[in-house]
Amino acid sequence: MENLLKDILKTCYPYTGQGKVANYIPQLAKADVTEFGISVMTEDGVIHNAGDSDKKFTMQSIVKPMILLMALLDQGEECVRRLVGVEATGKPFDAFNYSDQALKSEHINPMINTGSIALCTLIKGETYLEKFNRLLELTRKMADNPSLEIDRDVYLSEKETGNKNRALAYMLKAYGMLHDDVEEVLDCYFRACSISVTSVDLAKIGFTLANRGKNLQTGEQMFPEKYARDINAVLMTCGMYDGSGEFALNVGVPAKSGVGGGIMAIVPHRMGIGMYSPALDGKGNSVAGIKALEMLSEHLDLSIF
Ligand code: GLU
Repeated sequence: MENLLKDILKTCYPYTGQGKVANYIPQLAKADVTEFGISVMTEDGVIHNAGDSDKKFTMQSIVKPMILLMALLDQGEECVRRLVGVEATGKPFDAFNYSDQALKSEHINPMINTGSIALCTLIKGETYLEKFNRLLELTRKMADNPSLEIDRDVYLSEKETGNKNRALAYMLKAYGMLHDDVEEVLDCYFRACSISVTSVDLAKIGFTLANRGKNLQTGEQMFPEKYARDINAVLMTCGMYDGSGEFALNVGVPAKSGVGGGIMAIVPHRMGIGMYSPALDGKGNSVAGIKALEMLSEHLDLSIF
């Protein structure tokens, strides 16, 4: 497996120079485009790495499945579905041109910013810091890494410049879908996006979703199987932004990408995969990351279709 991963990184390396690092969050613009890493956790619990698998980057939108899971655990499916729908929007992750009609839950899904910001309000906690800390604990548990922390520079950078997310949150408020203080809700969201991980962490988190919530080592059912199935289904249709259809054709597994350059892919019952390469295509997906996943999927016949 290690040799296969190394070969794939080598073949796909020229793609690391294609695409651009995200610069609308100034701190993300400092990423080094030559960094390229992959980690795969297989069903025997072994983690296989190649390239820069020890490099840290922020989860950004890859935290959205965790926010969805936390909201499901805290409030149940009915409540989550009342606030946020599950249909792909076919629009960029931060779009706010929802046509001229009133914003309704069925217009948004948990993997776009509007949906994820709304779901932060469903996490239990006296304060938004407490809500975030519970989310961080869940993420640490799934990554089996108690040392996960936020990258403060990225968090502060996004907090300072995240006006588009402020606009989205106020739009939710205008349509009665968000009742709390916008800055407090966004503080939780910005912190969540700034959780710093490696591709190894993503492979482990992805594996818990592939294994339907069951920790392979301890056998503990960390969350209901049904939630893992639901999250994987939403990731299949909405996880790769408005490139999810193309990704379904070419890779064929549930996955989530983030503008930090990471991708977490889930091969049900078989694998959790973490990727890192920070140069992005126009939709916000890592160019080299997608190419590497396409090759891996072809080699190991990973598509679920
Ligand atoms: N923190 C980023 C934002 O809200 C996440 C976007 C992403 O990774 O898609 O703009």
